[in-house]
Amino acid sequence: MHSILDAALQSARPFLSKGKVAAYIPALNRANPDQLGVAVCLPDGSSFSAGDAGVGFTIQSISKVFTLVTAIRSLGRDRVFERVGLEPSGNPFYSLVQLEYEAGRPRNPFINAGAMAISSLLPGETSSIRLDVVAGGMSELCGRELSINVDVYSSERDTGNRNKAVGFFMKHFDIIEGDVTVAVDTYFRSCSIEMTCLELARAGLFLSNHGVDPTSKQRILEQHDVQWINSLMTTCGLYDASGEFACRVGVPGKSGVGGGILAIVPGKMSIAAFGPALDEKGNSIGAWKVLEFLSAEMGLSLYA
Ligand code: GLU
Repeated sequence: MHSILDAALQSARPFLSKGKVAAYIPALNRANPDQLGVAVCLPDGSSFSAGDAGVGFTIQSISKVFTLVTAIRSLGRDRVFERVGLEPSGNPFYSLVQLEYEAGRPRNPFINAGAMAISSLLPGETSSIRLDVVAGGMSELCGRELSINVDVYSSERDTGNRNKAVGFFMKHFDIIEGDVTVAVDTYFRSCSIEMTCLELARAGLFLSNHGVDPTSKQRILEQHDVQWINSLMTTCGLYDASGEFACRVGVPGKSGVGGGILAIVPGKMSIAAFGPALDEKGNSIGAWKVLEFLSAEMGLSLYA
């Protein structure tokens, strides 16, 4: 496995110079575009990694998966999907346009609007309590007490006017429950959770193991809920490039503008790849190429 991971990194490196680090969140603009790492976790407890797999990065939109997991665990799936839909948006993750046409109801949990709507349902009066609920569950899964990157959080909190507008817009339609500022701030905090590839792959492993965390043997989600999350990752996980990711990689995935992509191979493994240089849609160029290589070499596509 180690040699195949090294080969995957090597195949991806030449593409890094075609990307740019996220600049619209000022603190992310300081990331190093040459970094590249990958980690693989198997249900038998073994893990493998290469490159910058031990470097911490903010998971950004990948947090939307764990916010959804947390909400389903505490409220049940029906209650969560009263607020958000199940369809790809075909629009950028920050878009307001569709929300106006569709009476404030987000198309899916993985666009910003969807994650904020779900953040409004989480238990806890304040955003820091809600963050503790989300990050606490993730910490148990990855075996380390996670925290947020305060620089990245403050930077987004101080400049994220479009996300704040999306939150207030949804509040107008009663899609956001309770205090909209708490929901938006919970979202900013969740996006700023800092993890390494190895930790992220560990945290996502239960999604490739029918809902059970193989390390603790604890059931995190029912299998039918996992089926929904993996399906949504397939159709909506890579922004408006989810179709292309399904063709080229062929497994459920979720990306974030911090440069991470979490990929789930049902029944087989979880993979987290990281490289801060992004393409024009906000997906990590390097992480995508690493996953494409691994999928081809190991025959991972679900559609082959
Ligand atoms: N915090 C980022 C934002 O809301 C997350 C975007 C992403 O990773 O897709 O703009």
